[in-house]
Amino acid sequence: MSKENLNEKIVSLCANRGIIFPSAEIYGGVAGFFDYGPVGVTLKNRIRSFWRSEFIIKMNSIYEIESSIILPRIVWEASGHLEGFTDVLVECKKCQTQYRADHLIQDTLKIATDGKSFEELSEILIKNTIKCPNCKGELASTQKFNLMFKTHIGAAKQSVNEAFLRPETAQAMFIDFKRIQQTMRASLPFGIAQIGRSYRNEISPRNFLFRLREFEHLEIEFFVHPAGKDDLPDELWAKVKDLQVAILSIPQQEKEEEAKLMKASEILEQRIFSCKWLLYWTLISYDWLVRVGLDPSKLRLRQHMLNERAHYAADCWDIEFQYSFGWKELQGIADRTDYDLKKHSKFSKKELNIHLTEENIKVVPHVIEPSWGLERVIQALLESAYVEEKERTLFKFNSYIAPFQIAVFPLMKNREEIVERSKEITTNLKQFNFQILYDEKSSIGRRYRRVDEIGVPFAVTIDFDTLEDNTVTVRDRDSMEQERVPIKNLAEMFQKRLSFI
Ligand code: ATP
Repeated sequence: MSKENLNEKIVSLCANRGIIFPSAEIYGGVAGFFDYGPVGVTLKNRIRSFWRSEFIIKMNSIYEIESSIILPRIVWEASGHLEGFTDVLVECKKCQTQYRADHLIQDTLKIATDGKSFEELSEILIKNTIKCPNCKGELASTQKFNLMFKTHIGAAKQSVNEAFLRPETAQAMFIDFKRIQQTMRASLPFGIAQIGRSYRNEISPRNFLFRLREFEHLEIEFFVHPAGKDDLPDELWAKVKDLQVAILSIPQQEKEEEAKLMKASEILEQRIFSCKWLLYWTLISYDWLVRVGLDPSKLRLRQHMLNERAHYAADCWDIEFQYSFGWKELQGIADRTDYDLKKHSKFSKKELNIHLTEENIKVVPHVIEPSWGLERVIQALLESAYVEEKERTLFKFNSYIAPFQIAVFPLMKNREEIVERSKEITTNLKQFNFQILYDEKSSIGRRYRRVDEIGVPFAVTIDFDTLEDNTVTVRDRDSMEQERVPIKNLAEMFQKRLSFI
């Protein structure tokens, strides 16, 4: 199956089965916005809970918050987004089609544009006399386009009321830092986490869920003592020390080498990362992605080149996934130093530091930030789990990530006792919080195919024997093997097979 084909197939399967489809579809859709149907929303909930379980509940000293989506102008002035959160826009003089300059260059000249400045991109467009791909018209001069959605708070449209929809959840963790630190009596190191929607008015949203205008961030700001950036506790290192990951460091990229597999211990010894906490957060993030079900052979860690790294960052890595449209950023992990706390402190005139009682000094912590886009995780998972077999198409989701976990089928819908028994089993299993799909329509073979397509790991079929011996058939999605299981053992068996703990 070609790569373009894979993306097309997933997009159409998602639409046909109501998993994920364009928002305002009956009006023609809006680029960069998608709605989730019952299967899609459950898949999203499942990944979100798995994230919360691994990064908040099971970790020590990570505190979750939920902040406003709309924040006043001053927040974005302080963070630098007002000034710098821009892409380069270029418009066709003839047909008015708008392009993101770097995308247009990548598509027409097939060259990398990471880290290129406004001036550099403008120059490349002129030098190569790039024309509008749509109508071959001449392009106007480039302009900087701020990606934030602007609004006003209240009726008066004055600049003092200007506000913006957040383009990331991170800033709230900085502006709420002091209150969370004090109320949770947190000492360094500790983290503040947030799951929530972000908004970016992308110039050219594309590639299904990859580049959206409304999406969900999973972010952690992890605060460490500026002098303790290598002080990672042994028990945390033990969790990642045996991992092997594909690495693409700055020197490798300069020499145009391929990514190479390295052991965590080798990476640490060679000091490829700015500090041990940054390495830990990158490795633990990678491990989580693999446990979600992403194909590890399609994951690599790429270090930002100096010209693409934010000016305040000491080091920055992307976890990239080989999507059907190429290697792209799925997650960013940055050593943001003390830049954000200091900037907000300056603009708010509030002290954003932490008092270390033993040493009786105040320090501004440094921040390690892992930031995932939930939709990019979903798209990578869909591409990893999609399988075509001779007679069926299926998503091989890990059982604990699968949206619907169990399908319940009465063998025949016109036998009242069988239907009644099936509904009873469904009700009982629902008490254990399993997400059940009950279906009595069409042949049993067809029903199996339908649930395979949306990745349901187990199907329970109730037949004539059930009425005699209180057992049911449990079918495994991947092997298609069937076993006979007593009804009384079902809940416990599924609890074991569907748990991620
Ligand atoms: P890109 O370079 O692809 O625009 P970015 O570097 O601006 O991404 P960050 O600001 O680092 O992205 O945001 C962190 C994560 O948020 C990204 O790794 C990605 O998973 C997700 N993300 C960012 N922009 C989008 C978007 N427009 N649609 C979907 N997810 C996004």
